[in-house]
Amino acid sequence: MTNTSIIIVGAGQAGYQVAASLRQEGFEGAITLVGDEPGVPYQRPPLSKAYLLGKVGVEALRFRPPEYFDEHRITRIQSSVSHIHRERRELVLTSGETLTYDHLVLATGARNRVPTVPGIELNGVFGLRSLADADGLSQRLGRAQRAVVIGAGFIGLEFAAVAAARGISVDVLELGTRPMARAVSTITSRVFDQAHASWGVRIHYGQSLAAIEGVDGHVTGVQLANGEALPADLVVYGIGVLPNAELASEAGLAIHNGIAVDAQLLTSDPAISAIGDVVSFPSPWSPQPIRLESVQNAVDQAKALAGRLMGKPTVSYAALPWFWTDQGELKLQIAGLADGHDETVVLGSEAQRQISVLCFRAGRLVAVESCNRPADHMAARKLIARHTPLSAVEASTAGFDLKTYEVATRETS
Ligand code: FAD
Repeated sequence: MTNTSIIIVGAGQAGYQVAASLRQEGFEGAITLVGDEPGVPYQRPPLSKAYLLGKVGVEALRFRPPEYFDEHRITRIQSSVSHIHRERRELVLTSGETLTYDHLVLATGARNRVPTVPGIELNGVFGLRSLADADGLSQRLGRAQRAVVIGAGFIGLEFAAVAAARGISVDVLELGTRPMARAVSTITSRVFDQAHASWGVRIHYGQSLAAIEGVDGHVTGVQLANGEALPADLVVYGIGVLPNAELASEAGLAIHNGIAVDAQLLTSDPAISAIGDVVSFPSPWSPQPIRLESVQNAVDQAKALAGRLMGKPTVSYAALPWFWTDQGELKLQIAGLADGHDETVVLGSEAQRQISVLCFRAGRLVAVESCNRPADHMAARKLIARHTPLSAVEASTAGFDLKTYEVATRETS
């Protein structure tokens, strides 16, 4: 592998990790990390949490200090890649410069879906994906009094909790009937709905945005589809993301809800792999190929890919998905995928907002949503990953404890 050149497009969570893991695995060839964002690769989760609250600075976001990349011979290029010439194994940067690869890794991530309404271009309207977004938002937060958040998903609600904690009046518009509906059970939604209400956040369900209004280029409020108006000096949207798959698509790679890869994370071209938010992949945890937007997925796929590129025995990528979100004093951790669950068992106390919701599908434990119960989350990850049998009846027994059950079944499963 000494003379091999690996180029990674996208210097986010997955791109950084595959470069670092390749070096850790002993890869000696050239590694080039091409990313279009300025500065040292950084993690996004704190952008909507501790960073926005001013609890951590920019250094804490960096995966590694700048000198790490030189010391590990990882060449960083700040540029956008505009084309892939697969037949020549060549990349074209927006500057016109070309780079050739032996193996290419696409880790181009995702970008915010932007609401298509009048006024979206006004000053004071933000998406939240990058450090630049967070810095702009942070400046504005200092003088904001009324914020409207579009979308009650993870990012929208994390921002709502931060803004409420900073004394800003917050309204959230949500098209659906409950918060984080795409990702969690109705019970967990209820806990977060009540928590946000207790922090003074008003979530308006079944409401959509018709227009954002402004004066002299600055936002002054939003107009709802039902004709109601809400004043605002800050609007933040969090209505999901779109995979950055255009580069791959133009190069003729198979696309299906992102870049389609196989269980080895290979695209339809054997010289090109893809990982992270941008890929849809077959998973033993889902009946259909899935695209996940999480740190766990980006990191685990990057590590699995580095192993394959180093010639480790090829195994299908099968890591159990897990996620987290921090909102106010609530930490929600989710192990597994709850889609299509038909039975739930609740452990803990909903009144104290310390619960774990065990989600069963066809008699099998498929996911556990733990709110302020980290020990349950760790146990759940092990139990689900091991396919340890557990029935809803057993979990409903008085005194049942997930961690104790995990330890007790370690030998047998
Ligand atoms: P990204 O980190 O998005 O990196 C992709 C990079 O590629 C970007 O820098 C992009 O600009 C660059 N790029 C794209 N196209 C090109 C091109 N043509 N040329 C060059 N560069 C290109 N996940 C969790 O699990 N828990 C959380 O609490 C959590 N909180 C989050 C909070 C926020 C505010 C955000 C935005 C995300 C959060 N996530 C969280 C999601 C997590 O950060 C992502 O899943 C993760 O960053 C995905 O990594 P990635 O490398 O696939 O994509």
